[in-house]
Amino acid sequence: MDFKLSEEQNLLIKSTKSFVKNELMQHEGLLEKTDNLPKELYQEIKKKSQELGLYACNMPTEYGGGGLNAFDLTLIEKELGHTSLALAEIAWRPQNILMACTGKLIDEYLKPATTGERKDCIAMTEPEAGSDLRGMKTNAVQSGDDWTINGTKHFISNAHISDFVVLFTSTGKDEKGRNLLSCFLVDLDLPGVEVAKGYDCVSHRGYVNNIIHFNDCKIPAANILGEKDKGFELMNTWLEATRLTVSATSVARAQRAFDIALDWSANRKQFGKVIGKFQGVSFKLADMATEIKLANLILMESAWKIDQGTLTSQDAAMAKLFCTEMVGRVSDEAIQICGGMGLMSDIPLERIWRDARIERIWEGTSEIQRHIISRSLLRPLGA
Ligand SMILES: Cc1cc2nc3c(=O)[nH]c(=O)nc-3n(C[C@H](O)[C@H](O)[C@H](O)COP(=O)(O)OP(=O)(O)OC[C@H]3O[C@@H](n4cnc5c(N)ncnc54)[C@H](O)[C@@H]3O)c2cc1C
Repeated sequence: MDFKLSEEQNLLIKSTKSFVKNELMQHEGLLEKTDNLPKELYQEIKKKSQELGLYACNMPTEYGGGGLNAFDLTLIEKELGHTSLALAEIAWRPQNILMACTGKLIDEYLKPATTGERKDCIAMTEPEAGSDLRGMKTNAVQSGDDWTINGTKHFISNAHISDFVVLFTSTGKDEKGRNLLSCFLVDLDLPGVEVAKGYDCVSHRGYVNNIIHFNDCKIPAANILGEKDKGFELMNTWLEATRLTVSATSVARAQRAFDIALDWSANRKQFGKVIGKFQGVSFKLADMATEIKLANLILMESAWKIDQGTLTSQDAAMAKLFCTEMVGRVSDEAIQICGGMGLMSDIPLERIWRDARIERIWEGTSEIQRHIISRSLLRPLGA
């Protein structure tokens, strides 16, 4: 197995690293203080990201995207993950699932999302349906040339600045009485759609979540993404890769926390010695470095498997589980090493620690990942 990166890949890493350092990190303080970013700054970052070819580099080249494979995208995600999510998101990409667009949806949604003219968000979660997505109550009913949508979604990231939503609804029941799901592209300025304020969140300042209400909202029949009642299949095809995005940002943040702790250990003196000389500190560093390395390996193997077409649900779940739990442990230990200063906002550790908490919850909780992994182990044995 060859683990060496190509010259192009090293260049990709270098240019993204410098973009993150020069264009994003300088705004972290403002974001933390105000929980917001001025519109002009948002536009400026987006423009620079487009000029660099970073924006939509996941999307196909024929629609104006960068056409990068999953491995190279993961290298980029690991660089963007060093900074605040709200900043990285501006520079980043439309949902992969838009590549499922066909017919007129390509011109109306896929292309403008790729060029940055229109912004997307994705809505699955509801107040009463989180892990159990099949239990969703939002429904779409077909009548003639329209679908009529009713229901409420919550925790929807960035809906307030989006033009349309990739929306999952129930569209019927199977023979066992369970919900069948379908996916739609819905413009957020349509009559019957209300994007409301969401909740204040301890993780990822400036990264807004919203509640979206649908009240007899009518959309054209053609706005269905994929086939009717095949929403679960669509989720499985496109959304597993997003578990790797969360994993990549977790690896990046853990590395940043580790670097701070390492530097602190080498410079902070107590009892006449640098604290890194105490085994109680140095063994922590050894464990943290080992965990980051393991997480990186599992992440990059999974990304490579996407490109080979061999990624399984078990692979994606293991990567998500390990990387997100790892960043929780590493950021906690980094704070321990830095002592009281670790909790002060003068250094970004307390933020990385706060931000790490959400990673074990969204994109499928740790318990759901363990469920996926254990089912894939036991099912072949008939258990
Ligand atoms: C800031 C933020 C932004 C988000 N953005 C989006 C978005 O853009 N779009 C979107 O659709 N969603 C989004 N989400 C939703 C996110 O994916 C869900 O929060 C997540 O899937 C968990 O659902 P829940 O919060 O309803 O928890 P629940 O499903 O209610 O889970 C509560 C607890 O029960 C456990 N549990 C549930 N079922 C089982 C089981 N079978 N076995 C063992 N334990 C179980 C869970 O692991 C968890 O510990 C966002 C969430 C947050 C917090």
